[in-house]
Amino acid sequence: MGRDLSNKCKLCRRATEKLFLKGDRCGTPKCAMVRKPYVPGVHGKKGRRPQGEFGQQMAMKQRVKRIYGVMERQFKKYFHDVKDKPGVTGDLLMQKLEMRLDNVIFRAGFAPSRQSARQLVGHSQFLINGKKINIPSREVKIGDVISAKPNKTKGEYFKQLAARLKEKKGGTPPSGWLETVPNEIVVKIKSKPTRNDLDLHVDAQVIVEFYSR
Ligand code: SF4
Repeated sequence: MGRDLSNKCKLCRRATEKLFLKGDRCGTPKCAMVRKPYVPGVHGKKGRRPQGEFGQQMAMKQRVKRIYGVMERQFKKYFHDVKDKPGVTGDLLMQKLEMRLDNVIFRAGFAPSRQSARQLVGHSQFLINGKKINIPSREVKIGDVISAKPNKTKGEYFKQLAARLKEKKGGTPPSGWLETVPNEIVVKIKSKPTRNDLDLHVDAQVIVEFYSR
């Protein structure tokens, strides 16, 4: 299971916008985009040269890959999986990314970032329809029920999470396609996500153009 080990804050600075890769820290003044809002490197403060069409397409692809924590090979595979399907390819690509198990756990507010969600799944802390799962990229389906593994809920992380959910503090509010159960670490997949469910400023068609060159 490959993963990007680059400095997360540098990825935001390179993208010149917050990608929210570090959970709670991203909303604080400690965020590197607050402290150093320019691209990394000795010439960073001079600003970035205007990008051509190829550069813009590449930047959009990199941005989406980093938001979801997906490596190039997997990302390209997602594109090839959807490119011949009926519908808008960009929307289908984003749908595929959104329906990853780690993203669902993040969206449900059970982890502060996709990276933490990925770690929790990797450590078998969640069940899908009552069955053990440890694959963060697993694609969820409509009707799936994801819940915390009962014997793990006594752990410190889940105790704090349960308290947070009770107070309705922290976590990401559930997207329209997800349904959480009040006071429980349970989320159901109601439908497939649509463009309106995404809170990201992403033009996925630009990525389609990049791979279709
Ligand atoms: Fe990006 Fe979060 Fe780091 Fe800020 S704290 S630069 S949003 S990863």
